[in-house]
Amino acid sequence: MLPIERRNQIKQLIQDNEHMKISELSKLLGVSEMTIHRDLKPLIKEEFVIKTFGGVTLAKDSATKQIPDDACIICRRPVEERLVFRIIRKDNQIEMACCAHCGLLRFQQIEDQVMQIMTHDFLCHTTINGLTAWYVMDTSLVVSCCKPQVLAFESKKHADQFVKGFGGDVYSFQEALEKLHQKMNSGTCCHHHD
Ligand SMILES: [Zn+2]
Ligand SMILES: [Zn+2]
Repeated sequence: MLPIERRNQIKQLIQDNEHMKISELSKLLGVSEMTIHRDLKPLIKEEFVIKTFGGVTLAKDSATKQIPDDACIICRRPVEERLVFRIIRKDNQIEMACCAHCGLLRFQQIEDQVMQIMTHDFLCHTTINGLTAWYVMDTSLVVSCCKPQVLAFESKKHADQFVKGFGGDVYSFQEALEKLHQKMNSGTCCHHHD
């Protein structure tokens, strides 16, 4: 077996079993424990596994890291399904933003390439059309994503009711774009600009 094959096999074994002992790997693959140690070194360095007593354990996020690129196109935050803002481009590429804040910023950048926008209703979590959605800003409810916060709602009625409870203002898509633009220029946004 080539060293590269062996290393791939080790990776696979750890992924399947989550935890492997050095002695087990050595026996299974018919090489010395020294060799296993050497093979594991890069895996530990790239944080694929964590060293434990006499063995290794799959790093927690290695198990879920399989999804290719799920970082926000604007701020590189990991994207959560709850707030995700998907921009479908005319060339059928889909771009993901972590929330409506970044989604609107991205829209401004590539406006004429945008075919459709999909996001979730903040209350019902249903998939909605971002272009016809209503957006709430300056609300007191904090969702721990980008600031200024922008929350999406399918119906204006729900957005209005939400604002009654948590404060804020309701905007259409176009109005939200303008409002966000203003806020960004007044320096109240967390994103840095050139
Ligand atoms: Zn973002
Ligand atoms: Zn965000």
